[in-house]
Amino acid sequence: MNNFSYTRAGDVATAVREVSGDDAAVFIAGGTNLIDLMKENVTRPGRLIDITRLPLARIEELPDGGLRLGALVTNADTAYNEQVERRYPLLARAILAGASAQLRNMATNGGNLMQRTRCLYFYDRATPCNKRDPGAGCSAADGFNRMHAILGASEQCIAVHPSDMCVALAALDAQVQVTGPRGDRTIPFGEFHRLPGDTPQIDNTLRSDEIITAIDLPPRGFADHYAYLKVRDRTSYAFALVSVAAALDMKGDTVVEARLALGGVAHKPWRDMHAEEMLKGLSVTKDHFEAVASEIVREARGFADNSFKIVLAQRAIVRALQHAAAMGRQS
Ligand SMILES: Cc1cc2nc3c(=O)[nH]c(=O)nc-3n(C[C@H](O)[C@H](O)[C@H](O)COP(=O)(O)OP(=O)(O)OC[C@H]3O[C@@H](n4cnc5c(N)ncnc54)[C@H](O)[C@@H]3O)c2cc1C
Ligand code: SF4
Repeated sequence: MNNFSYTRAGDVATAVREVSGDDAAVFIAGGTNLIDLMKENVTRPGRLIDITRLPLARIEELPDGGLRLGALVTNADTAYNEQVERRYPLLARAILAGASAQLRNMATNGGNLMQRTRCLYFYDRATPCNKRDPGAGCSAADGFNRMHAILGASEQCIAVHPSDMCVALAALDAQVQVTGPRGDRTIPFGEFHRLPGDTPQIDNTLRSDEIITAIDLPPRGFADHYAYLKVRDRTSYAFALVSVAAALDMKGDTVVEARLALGGVAHKPWRDMHAEEMLKGLSVTKDHFEAVASEIVREARGFADNSFKIVLAQRAIVRALQHAAAMGRQS
């Protein structure tokens, strides 16, 4: 039994003050991940700061033509927002590929970024896990590792980040707005999540006394040529084995600009800028897309149960690029 206290914050400044003054305090939003972690005793906060009443549940236009998604807008309200559907359909697709309708109604955008890995050993307190107990060891490395990383893993942790939404946000070059005792700052999406290295207990670069207030989408949404492809064991209510967010700017049959992000393969949404550069100026052929896919997995490493993901990722990249390129064309 872990006793904890509960406070509801009425404004952002109070929420930050409450969490920064107490090492045992954490924010709770929709609770769809945190409550599970508490029930399994993976996380044992001494204090919950409920942030659901903060004024961060709006979607607003930005002066530069982008869109600001409040941290407390639910995943469902984000995916079905008229602006998001029309201008950022890649993001809407990715969100709707995740979880279930009920969960998306509760889950918030800020919580989605902060959700923790689904590695089974992380949830099982009977097994060693460096992410849960630093220094304890990694049960997955020599255990059942079918869902685990093929890129960017370390000796200490081979877990993957489970979000779908974050894969699309990485491809779109979103920015995370945060506030803390030292003021506001902006974190480029690619710098928000981190690779495990020697400190797998740290998932991201948000400081423990900071709160996510919003996620900013840049003006370009790649609404004409995009695809979110999620490969999973069931067609709903399952985390990605591999997912691909592809966004293209096309001139005729030629790629002018490309964004590609992968989910289910690493501790963070995986982007490969070199591969994106390779795509520029290429015509739409399967051979070209296969060459790019091979480049992305050039340093991939499989473990006992997940080597199949290396081939799967390549095929998913090619298919997503083909879908994105073919949009709007006569067949
Ligand atoms: C059965 C199941 C299946 C799922 N399947 C998928 C899936 O396929 N794809 C997918 O992407 N997701 C999936 N999810 C995950 C779900 O999307 C997340 O649980 C949800 O987005 C978390 O949001 P929340 O508001 O409930 O966060 P909470 O559970 O309230 O919080 C999660 C963490 O975020 C922190 N936090 C929350 N808001 C903020 C903030 N504004 N600033 C700083 N820290 C904050 C909390 O302190 C906590 O550490 C699934 C979840 C479940 C339970
Ligand atoms: S992969 Fe990471 S989360 Fe899973 S057991 Fe190893 S250290 Fe823990």
